[in-house]
Amino acid sequence: MAKVLEGHVLTCSALDCSYNDERCCSAPNVEVGSDHPKCDMYTTAPVERSSIEPMISGCAISECAFNTSDDCRAAAVTMMPHSGHADCGTFRTA
Ligand SMILES: [Zn+2]
Repeated sequence: MAKVLEGHVLTCSALDCSYNDERCCSAPNVEVGSDHPKCDMYTTAPVERSSIEPMISGCAISECAFNTSDDCRAAAVTMMPHSGHADCGTFRTA
């Protein structure tokens, strides 16, 4: 049975993030949340990159249609720049 990559961050267009590796996220895992669908891993500080596609390990945006008990159920997640950090571009409310 094929494994479904639920909640994996596949692409990111926040090119200034230290985890951005040719538009792929190389963070070990990603949390989304606070007051809007913000990527909590976004940083411009030096980081150690991971070679796997990270999962959304937690999402605090309960109004997102893909959020089930703080887990992300989107088939693939795209991050995009938003005023100096990255936001989840897959967020939707319906
Ligand atoms: Zn934002």
